[in-house]
Amino acid sequence: MRITGPLLMLAFLGMAKAHEHHHHEHHHHHDDDHRELGKKEGRGCGTQNPNAAEQAQAKKDVENWRAKKAARAADGLIAEATTPITIPTYVHLIYGSNPFENQVIGDAQAQIDVLNAAYSGSGFSFVLKGVQQFGNRKWWTCTPGTRFERQMKSDTRVGGPESLNIWFNNPGQGLLGWAQFPDEVNRRLSTDGVVCLHSSKDGGTAAPYNQGDTLVHEVGHWLGLYHTFQGGCTAPGDGVADTPAEAEPAYGCPVDRDTCGSAGLDPITNYMDYSDDACMDRFSFGQIERMHALYDTYRKPEPTQPPSPTFSPSRSPSSPPVDAPPASCNYKNSRKCNRDDACTWNSTTRSCEPV
Ligand SMILES: [Zn+2]
Repeated sequence: MRITGPLLMLAFLGMAKAHEHHHHEHHHHHDDDHRELGKKEGRGCGTQNPNAAEQAQAKKDVENWRAKKAARAADGLIAEATTPITIPTYVHLIYGSNPFENQVIGDAQAQIDVLNAAYSGSGFSFVLKGVQQFGNRKWWTCTPGTRFERQMKSDTRVGGPESLNIWFNNPGQGLLGWAQFPDEVNRRLSTDGVVCLHSSKDGGTAAPYNQGDTLVHEVGHWLGLYHTFQGGCTAPGDGVADTPAEAEPAYGCPVDRDTCGSAGLDPITNYMDYSDDACMDRFSFGQIERMHALYDTYRKPEPTQPPSPTFSPSRSPSSPPVDAPPASCNYKNSRKCNRDDACTWNSTTRSCEPV
């Protein structure tokens, strides 16, 4: 999770330290951490902090992947291990009551262009398969780990583990975004994907986090990367050999910062740090290798799998959002319906109506 203001950083960086799945219960045990972290302003990220078992599993996954790759190379099958990967991508624009409050600035393709520029040379590319708008006040402001977040995702998510789903909403309280790690996809496909603050889009209003790099950062988590400050100065850190350890997140763009005794300056220009968008511009080779290892382990489709589905109904990314039908009929879209399951979209009258 990336955070714009100091208040929620207190809560959510505390959560990250506390331990993954029971963060709310643990908040109050970390008041000292909160105070210390609260002195800084800047981004934060609500992606769950991986626990020791999860980190160990990911390490094993990378090692197994390397061993398999080496075996394939020995068999003369190098090409298979280096095939470029195209990721089908779906963008979900959430709004509360006014469809204009969350339009893609420019268009959805522009956000995918930012992704592709950041991942160029990594072997991953992203193809926009669909864009949809959903009007729902609870989804518009939902935060990680809540009932409404699960509902927003499970009601709208498209595709299998190989498909990237992006939700833009307005969680408030300074949150910039969060993602689900690849190793969770078999247990929790319905919530797989990334959520980003709508105004963090390229050209949005969340300066200095408005060049689209929140999306780049969260997709890094979605492909298995940790923060560059994971574990602080203590090995194994983020599990990547060529990102020097750093004691804490970087804010702004503190050039030449060096917070750990180990070799190398802090990787403040890395997309997986907390620096300003204008400051971040790279993934390391080790991170790229790790993303391929975890993609192949958890997200790579079986060769026989049918092509990823397309949205239905769908609309052109550049068409004006005001005419877009809600993809799922929420009863709040219609005065005529009183329950979600009792109404459906009528394309003739262009409204939600009782079934
Ligand atoms: Zn993050």
